[in-house]
Amino acid sequence: MRTLFIAGNWKMNLSKDESCKLGEQLRDAVGDAGDVRVAVCPPFVFLDPLGALLDGSPVAIGAQNMHPEIGGAFTGEVSGSMLKDVGCEYVIIGHSERRHVFGETEDFIAAKVTRALADGLKPIVCVGETLAQRESSETQQIVCRQVESALNGVDNDAMSLITIAYEPVWAIGTGRTAAPEQAEEVHAIIRSLISDLFDSGVADNVVIQYGGSVKPDNATDLLSRENVDGALVGGASLKAETFIPIIESARSIMQMGQQ
Ligand code: PEP
Repeated sequence: MRTLFIAGNWKMNLSKDESCKLGEQLRDAVGDAGDVRVAVCPPFVFLDPLGALLDGSPVAIGAQNMHPEIGGAFTGEVSGSMLKDVGCEYVIIGHSERRHVFGETEDFIAAKVTRALADGLKPIVCVGETLAQRESSETQQIVCRQVESALNGVDNDAMSLITIAYEPVWAIGTGRTAAPEQAEEVHAIIRSLISDLFDSGVADNVVIQYGGSVKPDNATDLLSRENVDGALVGGASLKAETFIPIIESARSIMQMGQQ
């Protein structure tokens, strides 16, 4: 059965007090999330208090990044098992800011996916083309290459733990959202690739989120598309007033589908 998965990426924003207050607001508002999955991904240093605060609630926590090694001399880095220790269920891997600002390679991203799964975390694997790549008609080639590379070490069973987030780079933090038709087109391409790489059952069940300036006023339109299974939300996840309506849009869509 279809699920919608809404995750908030807080990036390097909010203080400890603000993070905990927002966590409380979400916990109270989400209540029984029904068929909608909800997660928030705060900065590393706030995972522990958020994990405690949201323990037993339908709001899961995730990290925004991790290192692919088990441990050792990697100053400033955080391992998957450390994330698991503080209650993380998810980890975002290959976000465009990691790829483009921090220069992460596809091999490094693939290694993180493999390690995250070994550590019992559910990876949210981000892929997406830049504006220049879209304008030169390379979207399909770039996105398929990123998906195939990131899932290189993943088997059919582990695919049930993977979320793919299609996030066109030109739509992240810009206020410029992909038109629902543009998102749907790329999501369908990703699903068909997953069918080729794994099988049609895996492809039917894999959750493909859209990310890039999702807001309360465009969420319903995006989430209603057949191949859009949720949203990875940046800016609008930083305030209860904008994040909760996105979760409510997802819930309404799920309820309509059940009637
Ligand atoms: C993101 O950070 O993954 C994101 C989609 O950001 P925004 O919603 O602000 O565009």
